[in-house]
Amino acid sequence: MKGDKKCLTRAFGAPVGDDQNSLTAGPRGPVLMQDVHLLEKLAHFERERIPERVVHAKGAGAWGYFEVTADVTRYTKAKFLSEVGKRTEVFARFSTVGGERGSADAARDPRGFAVKFYTEEGNYDFVGNNTPVFFIRDPLKFPDFIHTQKRHPATNLPDPNMFWDFLSLTPESIHQVTILFSDRGTPASYRHMNGYSSHTYKWYNEKGEYFWVKYHFKTDQGIKNLTREEAVRLCGEDPNHATRDLYEAIDRGHYPSWTLEMQILTPEQAEDFPWDIFDITKVWPHKEAPPIVVGKLVLNRNPANYFAEVEQAAFSPGNVVPGIAISPDKMLQARVFSYHDAHIHRLGPNYHLIPVNRPKNAPEANYQRDGFMRVDDNGGQGPNYWPNSFGGPAPVTEALEPPFEVSGQAARYAYVHPNDDFVQAGNLYRHVMTDEAREHLIGNIVDHLGKAQKRIQLRQTALFFKADPDYGSRVAEGLGLDKAEVERLANMSDEKRAAATDLPKP
Ligand code: NDP
Repeated sequence: MKGDKKCLTRAFGAPVGDDQNSLTAGPRGPVLMQDVHLLEKLAHFERERIPERVVHAKGAGAWGYFEVTADVTRYTKAKFLSEVGKRTEVFARFSTVGGERGSADAARDPRGFAVKFYTEEGNYDFVGNNTPVFFIRDPLKFPDFIHTQKRHPATNLPDPNMFWDFLSLTPESIHQVTILFSDRGTPASYRHMNGYSSHTYKWYNEKGEYFWVKYHFKTDQGIKNLTREEAVRLCGEDPNHATRDLYEAIDRGHYPSWTLEMQILTPEQAEDFPWDIFDITKVWPHKEAPPIVVGKLVLNRNPANYFAEVEQAAFSPGNVVPGIAISPDKMLQARVFSYHDAHIHRLGPNYHLIPVNRPKNAPEANYQRDGFMRVDDNGGQGPNYWPNSFGGPAPVTEALEPPFEVSGQAARYAYVHPNDDFVQAGNLYRHVMTDEAREHLIGNIVDHLGKAQKRIQLRQTALFFKADPDYGSRVAEGLGLDKAEVERLANMSDEKRAAATDLPKP
């Protein structure tokens, strides 16, 4: 090749002589089938899109590290957490949830907060959100819930009736709805929000003792949110504002960081805990389970290629390492299946070989073979079955989670807990929010719920009333609803309220 210039080639390496003019019979065509360069280029282009994530489609990511800052060896034997000062490389991805890949970053929506730790015992994936709770607590409801956040089957438009119909018939959502419609539902950027595990996980130590834990990544940049007006403006003026903010901050050397705090309960403390610790619609009040500082997450390197590193990044809450395990939280149990299954659909059965997903500090060694895009040596000449006596990789008992009790009759159980679903939402409204935060909350709800049918407005406002009478009354006032009617609905059972606000029977 002439000079230092890199030669343009076809996919299989042959040099290309002209990339501007198709091969034609005469100057005016037609184009010849034998223009193999053109055919290859078009065929690849037509296959550029992979299935979009059904949730968390729009996101941004970055590389960095996690550093341990406190001794937690009495709680977990995870090697990456074994020493103060120890650093582990990470890749983090932040996202909105309901919107498509091209949707606006400023949408009112929870934000995904996922971190892949490349530990020496394999990849550990933290797959959380910027909210400490969730809308539902049984995975059977998840596909329905997500459908209501997407487009209407006929109009192909986001639909406030779908959105509020489902939520108002799902009272356990009230806590998360209150957080979503506070200004925390529109974070100023991915750098200015916290990340929560939301779920309870299990940690266990070398002695086999276990603990129930929740993770809180607290932003060191400080919480900063957008008002509704600012968010609406940004959706139009700069729909990629959070993606841009993350990239530009890291590019300028302003590396965002988060302090990891853990809430940790012994099994005995969990027994007497005033809340069901596996109910993801509830937090653990700080005074009942004071968080302890454990480490620092720092993001200091932008991806070189968005598709390769961010779009193909695949996180799963099932990717745990020894010392960390799954809790009985029903939503978590289902996510352990769903995330891996979604990645197989989106990226293929060998998605763990894509560089961003590879366990780079604990290379894979097992008997899984073949499949689409098996691009490594596929186990080479080694045995492809276990047990074998040809030196293949063997299980190590130290990697086993200590045995744990399960019992009970198989049935479809609803959650039963002593405190109702409205207490924590009410506490947030009454005790945590400032006057200004309450005012914004009411305004944000009225603006959105006001677009739904009146009967749905009434049903949902009754739930706000149940959380706190002042909360419900102010929403009712903003919507021009009859407060006495709202109160009457609030005092009904869920079934009666649903029947009273159903479509009139023909
Ligand atoms: P605390 O007073 O100890 O904690 C209140 C927490 O609320 C703060 O630490 C902050 O969480 C968070 N917060 C502040 N403003 C908002 C807002 N506008 N929207 C959502 N969260 C906000 O009380 P408790 O621990 O008893 O919790 C009271 C209520 O606070 C809960 O019912 C829950 O709604 C909310 N909350 C509690 C969290 C917890 O893990 N205990 C976590 C987040 C919210 P942070 O420090 O994480 O920013």
